Formats: sequence, structure tokens, C-alpha cells
Amino acid sequence: MQNDKKNRSPLKNPLLVFLIISVVATVILNMVMLSMQTTKSQEISYSDFLQMLNEDKIDEVVLESDRLTIYEKIDESDLEMDSETSSFMSALGIDAEEVVERARENSRNVYYTGYIYDDRLLAMLDEKGVSYSTPIQDDNPILDFILTWILPLAVIYLLFFLLTRSMSKRMGGSGGGIMGIGQSNAKLYSVENATGVTFADVAGQEEAKESLDEIVDYLHNPSKYHAIGAKQPKGALLVGPPGTGKTLLAKAVAGEAKVPFFSLSGSEFVEMFVGVGASRVRDLFKQASAKAPCIIFIDEIDAIGKSRDNQISSNDEREQTLNQLLSEMDGFDSSKGLVILAATNRPEVLDKALLRPGRFDRRIIVEKPDLKGREDILKVHIKNVKTEPDINLHEMALATSGTAGADLANMVNEAALRAVRCGRKTVSQEDLMEAIEVIIAGKEKKDRILSEKEKRIVSFHEVGHALATAVQKHTQPVHKITIVPRTMGSLGYTMQMPEEEEHYLMSKDEILDQITVFLAGRAAEELVFNIKTTGAANDIERATSLARNMITQYGMSDKFGMAGLESIQNKYLDGRSVSNCSEETKTDIDKEIVALLKKCYDKAMNILKENRDALDEISEFLINKETITGDQFMEIFNRVKDSREEKTDNAESADDHEE
Ligand code: ADP
Ligand code: MG
Ligand code: ZN
Repeated sequence: MQNDKKNRSPLKNPLLVFLIISVVATVILNMVMLSMQTTKSQEISYSDFLQMLNEDKIDEVVLESDRLTIYEKIDESDLEMDSETSSFMSALGIDAEEVVERARENSRNVYYTGYIYDDRLLAMLDEKGVSYSTPIQDDNPILDFILTWILPLAVIYLLFFLLTRSMSKRMGGSGGGIMGIGQSNAKLYSVENATGVTFADVAGQEEAKESLDEIVDYLHNPSKYHAIGAKQPKGALLVGPPGTGKTLLAKAVAGEAKVPFFSLSGSEFVEMFVGVGASRVRDLFKQASAKAPCIIFIDEIDAIGKSRDNQISSNDEREQTLNQLLSEMDGFDSSKGLVILAATNRPEVLDKALLRPGRFDRRIIVEKPDLKGREDILKVHIKNVKTEPDINLHEMALATSGTAGADLANMVNEAALRAVRCGRKTVSQEDLMEAIEVIIAGKEKKDRILSEKEKRIVSFHEVGHALATAVQKHTQPVHKITIVPRTMGSLGYTMQMPEEEEHYLMSKDEILDQITVFLAGRAAEELVFNIKTTGAANDIERATSLARNMITQYGMSDKFGMAGLESIQNKYLDGRSVSNCSEETKTDIDKEIVALLKKCYDKAMNILKENRDALDEISEFLINKETITGDQFMEIFNRVKDSREEKTDNAESADDHEE
């Protein structure tokens, strides 16, 4: 930073610039005011003045230290008023004398001339009967100076100061005033109190950690790599869904390597002024190379790294920033130990130039954690809270399939909050399991009271789902059913939980069963109450999207075979898909979907009809208790089933006897 200061030209000093601007503005201001004062009078020479004096043309002279101001006599006849006018005026109550006096003062010409020391002057003026005077010098020269020079200067300076400060604040710049815009505002974590995060804080990302470990090792002893001629990868791109620990991993790399860590968000580069982002990038790399070995981390790099060939909305500023980043990445010497990490959850929008070897040539996938990963992440976060000895994180990991690290961290915190709310000193297993529901389905809405009728409908709906789950083979067991309304809109829900290790592939049968489970809620409504409610909207949406994916992406329909009719656009965010097929095919797809859903719905209806006795009994239980656990559910289900089978057996044996 020291050489930085030396290089600064004086014009870069904001204070000096302010000062110059203020002085110029004040001079102009004073000049304008001066010229305004003197416009009325006209300059004449001293000899002209003497001549006027001789010709008796002067009415009055004001003597000042540097000038004489001369008031010309005017023709009195011009001012004479006929008696008619004056009587008219007096009738109106106007003093005619005063009017004449005013007119005299306004119409006489004013001249000025420079003051020459002339001892004849007063005598001459006396002789001609010209009245003369001099203004009393009541103004203090110091006060005068302050008023005309210092005050405007101060006001202008203040204005500029406020203006630039508000400007730089709006732009989020931390640099001083207007000149700080171009400087990068990378947050520099110093070496001593490094990021404070190590690989031990990041759980369940073993592959990512392994890749990054090499970078850490390189930063520790580059010579080992130089000896064999291996070059350090310049940059690594962390890719994965939100909340999986990308930012955390980058910090951990810096913490492990014990090097400075420049962290910056991609959006911070882009300002409203073209060129600012580019100069920030330049500045960042300059600062970082001075501190090498170190790590530069650009979070959410898609903000600047978006592909440039987008013709609809081109953004000059962003493109310049990106170009600067590309050239800086080419320019720096990785042997010094400068490593660039970047994170994004939209790798597909990144510019190809950014991803070519020599720039972000290493791509590290940070996936959502699997069962073991979730358990490990929970272990990391549970350390921060006091727990009862008998907590079972494995059970919690089982119930949280599909969540990311950030969700898990959030759940542990929710559980701790719940424990405090209940007035306990430690977190119990119950707190943890309830926290899962809070994160997944929202908080319980105690004040929303369902009417008895609605409660019945919701109950049967949920038990419908659960029965379809229990009867079919390829489904996960029911963990819990509740009919307590939640803040995220559901009036009740059925929680499923895998028994053991989750699996990563889904077969066609499993998907069909899952669709059937989704549709069983509505089937129960229809079967029992013969109504259709809005409560099934979410089920229908999810069932439809599963059915669509089966047909368009997984090649599971007989009609289209293995044609890929849709592709996923942003895999790590909402996974929206774009269609790759013609309009006619789209129509056919829609017909296929409708047919598939119909088939599944009929299956759900049959399951419920066959198990009508269980449906009724479990629903009654749920209406009374509001919550039923998986074990209670299975207990009733099996009991009802056994007694039904007994009955049919008896009936059959009765038949046998008759024969
Ligand atoms: P992102 O991938 O969106 O950058 P972050 O790194 O910001 O996610 O993660 C947010 C928080 O989630 C972290 O601060 C941490 O508490 C928690 N977290 C996420 N992943 C993990 C993980 N693998 N191990 C431990 N904690 C994690
Ligand atoms: Mg992040
Ligand atoms: Zn439902």
C-alpha cells in the first residue's frame, strides 16, 4: 500500500480537488457580484470630471479612498410638474415633493473615476457649490474578507463534501469520497486472525475437501511442486446448490493455509458507472499480489461472469469487468501463490472464456449431503448447543433427506430456540424432530382453528396419503401424520422417512407409487365426502411434475421411448426445464401426462376402497389426537388388516363347509 501512496498524483487527493474547485467558484462569484454593483455607473477620466465640474454639471460627489462617484445634475425642467397634476396627486394623498425627489435620484447619471490626490479638489467643489461627502468606513476589513472569501468557500466545500459522501455511500464504497469509487472493497482477513474456519468445520464434503487440500498444500510449500515442474491451478470454481457450504469451504481453505483471504461478492464489482468494476478488479489483483501468497474469493461469480453473447440485454459495465477479470487471471503469476476461488450455483450461465484451462480450470462440485454427510454436519453444529445425552442424530439425518448444510444448521438452532421457549436448559430429541418440521413445513399455527368438518376432511386426506404409502411396496414408511395447520400453508401433512440408507436411483415403479401416494389425498376426499377441495393443489402439482419428468426426461413412457424432450436449465437452483420438442409433441406429452395421472388416481382409489375400514379408524384417531406417529399408524393398520383377513378366512371356511 505504501508504493500506492507515492504514485498518487496531487490531483488524486480529494481534499486538494475540493479546495481548487471552491476557490475558483468563489472568485467567479465575487467577480459577478462586483460587476453587478458597477453596471449602473460609467467610468470617466479625471479630466472629464474636472470639465464637468467646470461646466456646472455635477450635483454631488462621494469621495471614497479609491474612487470618486459623481452624480450628474439633471435638467430641473424635466421634473417640473404642472399644477393640475400636483393637485390631483395631493387629492390622492401623495406627497408631490417626495415624488419629484425620487425621480431626481433615479434619473441622474452616475459616473466614477479613480481617485487622484488633488489638493485643489475640495476648494473647487466648494466654489461650484457641489455637495460632497464620504461614506463612513464602518466595515471591518477582516469581516469583509471573511464574508466575501472564506464563507462562500466554506459553504461550497461543505456542499461538495456532503454530495460526494452520499454518492459514495449509495454505491457502497468504503473508500474516501468520490475518488474511492474505483478501489476494490475486498474484505481483507488478516493473517493473524485468519478466517477462523478450518476443514473440520465443513462436514460431509469429503471430495471437495480433497480437491482443495491440494491447493492448501501448494500454498504451504510450493517448492515441492516447482521441483517436479507442476503448476498450481490458477483458480477453482465451487459449484453447487445454495447452502451447501461453498462460501464456508473457501474460508476453510484460507484458514487451513493460514494465508490472507480476500473475499468479495461478484455483485460488488458492478456499479452504475462503466469502468468502475474493471478498475476494482485491477485494484483487487494489485492488492492481492502484494500480499501473496493469498486467496482471492469471488462469491456468486455469475453476477459478473455471465456469458457475453447474450444479445437481448448487453451490459457494458459487466462485460468490461469480466474482460478485466479474464486478463488479470491470465496476467498473474500463480507461482507466487495467488489462488482464485469462486463460487456459483449457476455454472451454466458462466462465460466459456472463464472456464477454459488456465483460468477456473478446476471445478469442484459441492453437492447436497447424503445421509452420512448430514449426520456429520449435524455433529458439527450440535457442538454449539447443550443437548441431552440421549439425542439421536442418525434419526434426524434420516428425516432430513434433500436438505443442505445451511438448513441443518438452521434446524439445530431452531431446536435450541424451542428448548429455550419451553424453559429447558438442554436440547432434546423432540426439539430436534420438531425443528425439522418447522424448517420443512413452517411453524405450527395454533390460532388457526379448523372447523370440525374441515378437520375431518384434512384428516381423511392425510390418512389417504399414508395408506397409499403403507400398502404399496416401493415407498418409504410413514413417520408421522399431523393435522395442525402450519405457517407455510399446509393444513396437515404426512411425513415419510426412509428406513435406512437412502438411495440415489429411482425406478419407474417407485415413481408411479409416489404419484399414487400424492393423488391418494384427493381420492380419500372423493371416496369419503364426495367432494373435491383446494387442499390437493400442491399434491397435484408435484404429481404432475413427476409424471412430466418421467415422460420427457427419464425415458419411461411407452409412447416416446427414450427421447429426451426436455432438459434442465439451472440444475442447482429451481431446476426449471426447457422444452426441446415441437408443439405437436408437446400436445401429445400433455395427453400422456393426463392418462398417466388418471391411471395412478384409479389405483389410489382402489387402495382406499380395499382399506376403507383402516381409513375410517385411523382418521378417527387422528381427528381426536391431531397427531399420529408411524408406529401407532402401523399398529392400527395391521390390526384392522388382520381382523379383516380373519373375517374373510372364516367366511371362506364357512363356504367350504357348505360345499
Ligand atoms: P453457500 O454454498 O450458499 O455458500 P454457505 O457456505 O454460506 O453456503 O453455508 C451457509 C451455512 O450453512 C454455513 O455457515 C454453515 O453454518 C452451514 N453449512 C453449510 N454446509 C455445511 C457443511 N458442509 N458443514 C457444516 N456446515 C455447513
Ligand atoms: Mg455462498
Ligand atoms: Zn395432500
